[in-house]
Amino acid sequence: MNSLAKTTGGTTDLHVLRPGDPAYDDELAGFQTGFTQRPAIIAAASSTDDVIAAVRYAAHRNLPIGVQATGHGLPGASEGGVLITTKRMDGVHIDPQARTVRVQAGVRWSQVVAAAEPYGLAPLNGSAPGVGAVSYTLGGGLGILARKFGYAADHVRALDVVTADGRPRHVTRESDPELYWALLGGGHTFGVVTGLEIGLVPVRTLYGGSLAFDGREVDPAVVLRAYEEWTRSVPDGLTSSFATVPYPDIPALPPRLRGRYVVSVRVAHTGADGERLVAPLRGIGPVLADSLREMPYAESHTIHSDPDFPHTYYGDSAVLSELDMEKAAELLVRTGPDPVDDTMCVVQINHLGGALSRPAPNSVPYREGRFLVRLLAMGGRAEARRLLDPAFALLAPVTIGRALNFAFGAGDRTEGLYDAGTRERLAGLKSQYDPANLFRRNYGVSA
Ligand SMILES: Cc1cc2nc3c(=O)[nH]c(=O)nc-3n(C[C@H](O)[C@H](O)[C@H](O)COP(=O)(O)OP(=O)(O)OC[C@H]3O[C@@H](n4cnc5c(N)ncnc54)[C@H](O)[C@@H]3O)c2cc1C
Repeated sequence: MNSLAKTTGGTTDLHVLRPGDPAYDDELAGFQTGFTQRPAIIAAASSTDDVIAAVRYAAHRNLPIGVQATGHGLPGASEGGVLITTKRMDGVHIDPQARTVRVQAGVRWSQVVAAAEPYGLAPLNGSAPGVGAVSYTLGGGLGILARKFGYAADHVRALDVVTADGRPRHVTRESDPELYWALLGGGHTFGVVTGLEIGLVPVRTLYGGSLAFDGREVDPAVVLRAYEEWTRSVPDGLTSSFATVPYPDIPALPPRLRGRYVVSVRVAHTGADGERLVAPLRGIGPVLADSLREMPYAESHTIHSDPDFPHTYYGDSAVLSELDMEKAAELLVRTGPDPVDDTMCVVQINHLGGALSRPAPNSVPYREGRFLVRLLAMGGRAEARRLLDPAFALLAPVTIGRALNFAFGAGDRTEGLYDAGTRERLAGLKSQYDPANLFRRNYGVSA
């Protein structure tokens, strides 16, 4: 590999890859396989100095800058520019007394869960342990214990960021309240965050898992209606979601899932009354699988059992003021086992509220939302849009916005990611911190 130091006259040992270099494609490989990114330069960063060198190089030449940690949330295809890969920046440091963790830009949640567990602590990670901790948190971070503790962004103590001027900044709520506010919620568009200091929560075990039904035996709309009613009775600390997955009949899947249309309710609760609280759900209909149990936090990834292998997906979301059951039932028919164009579609509906509705000094919007509907289509982008657009249109009357973290492959669509006031404030700060819009390869705001 050659070094950017040579091209910039700088002093770092930053590894640089260009199209045609043998390691170029491997460096780009990530979880999302649906888009091609062909940067003119990949800056394979190992340190903050490397990131600074890469940002200054790009800024000098007015080149767009992208960032990639794990590739779970790529906004779309791109050509040219500089892509900073952060997977080598994988330091995790727990401070058990302060109950905090410091993570570098390339850290995945699985690393933090493992490092915090010996101290009886847990991070506010989401369903998939392979997701990058930094980008997840900058986009809000809707975790498995979200209704108990709020968004991951609400727990950030400090951020280290390299802004478009190539300057490293240590940002806290006290030192720079405006940039702190902007980064946590609108963060992909204000710089490269090289590290975060985040609060941990004292959780060693939880009650949770999933209760699955066969969607061909039990009407998914009946399950959803019962679920929605049940959410009205649960305490604020209980987090749950509803999902439908039409599994294809392919040998790669375990026999119990092959060809099945699985409807499930997923639960995570830190109180002692989990078993009692979920009891009404077991009466919805014949249960296909029941994994609800007391478990160590380290097993919490089994609640959702998200796929951990790279694949192609497109997705979007709608934050709802309420769940319109009639429209939701229609949506389930459209996305069910026989969808438009045979495009496989996963539906997830998260119960919001609880600690998620508490105000926080950051730009994570739509705290008044009651439910979040997430649709994920497997296959080509055009087919995905043919399925997703009419499905979201059904929900339009009760939709208040979209969630940044669940826009997959919709990088060209930014409307609805923020309410008007938040967008305006973000745009003002964007023109201050990135007037040339170098960080435009994401779902962010422009100046
Ligand atoms: C299977 C799966 C499960 C998920 N579950 C959840 C969940 O439970 N809750 C939730 O909230 N979200 C969830 N997400 C969404 C996830 O949080 C976002 O897609 C997030 O952006 C992924 O970050 P990454 O680093 O893993 O991915 P990447 O694709 O590497 O990064 C995504 C984008 O973030 C930006 N970015 C990355 N690193 C930096 C950085 N250091 N500084 C500035 N910008 C940066 C870049 O614009 C990049 O394109 C899930 C996604 C998937 C695919």
